[in-house]
Amino acid sequence: VGLKGEGSAGTARLGVFGGAFDPPHLGHVALAQLAVQQLRLDALRIFPTGHAWHKSRPLTAAAHRMAMARLAFGAIPHVVVDERETLRAGPTYTVDTLRELAAEHPGAELFVVMGEDQALAFTGWNGWRDILQLAIICVAEREELAQPDHRFVPPAGLESRFCQLQLPPVPVSATEIRSQIAHHAQAIPMVAEPVARYIAQHHLYQTA
Ligand code: ATP
Repeated sequence: VGLKGEGSAGTARLGVFGGAFDPPHLGHVALAQLAVQQLRLDALRIFPTGHAWHKSRPLTAAAHRMAMARLAFGAIPHVVVDERETLRAGPTYTVDTLRELAAEHPGAELFVVMGEDQALAFTGWNGWRDILQLAIICVAEREELAQPDHRFVPPAGLESRFCQLQLPPVPVSATEIRSQIAHHAQAIPMVAEPVARYIAQHHLYQTA
C-alpha cells in the first residue's frame, strides 16, 4: 500500500494487529479504530493468524476467518487486512511478520497493537526482545480478563517500548461468542452485522 510520508522522510507510522479473529468482534473493531486515531497511523494492517502456536484449540479455516476479517474491518479508513500469516506453513510468529514489514517499508515506525491478555503473555513470545527493537507495543486494557491484582506492567527498563491505548472497556471475547452461538443464542452477539450474516450462512460455531 502507498503509505503517506513513506520514502525519503521515512516517517510512515504503520500498525500491526494480529489475532485469531475467530470470529472478529466489536472489541477488535473498536481497538482497530482507536489505534488508528490515537497512534495517528498511516496504515493499520490486520493479520489473521495461521497456525497460532499459543492457541491449543483448532481454529476455524483461515479462508473463513479472512473473509470475516474483511467484513469486520474492511470499511475502517487506513485499515488493510493482510493474509500473509495464513499462507505461512508452520507456526505464526509476529517477529517474522515485523521483519518482513520493516524490509518492505524502510524507515517506517512500527506499532504492535494488542489487548492486555496478550501483553501479559508477551515475554513468552518467540523473539520478544527482537520485537521490542522493531516496534512499540501498544496495549489496550481488557477488563473482563485481567485479574485486578495482575494487570500488565512493562518489563523493567523497557517501559519506553510500550504505550497504553485509551480504549474504553469492551467486555467481549471470541470464546464467549462461539459459546453463545453453540448454545443457540437467538441473535449472534457483539459482531458486525455482515459478520453475523456470514456466520449464519456458513453455519460456523454450531458446536461448542
Ligand atoms: P479468544 O476468546 O478466542 O481467545 P479473543 O476475543 O481474545 O479470542 P483474539 O483473536 O485472540 O480474540 O484477539 C486478537 C487481539 O485482540 C488480541 O491482542 C486480544 O488481546 C485483542 N482483543 C480481543 N478482544 C478484545 C477486547 N474486548 N478488548 C481489547 N482487546 C481485545
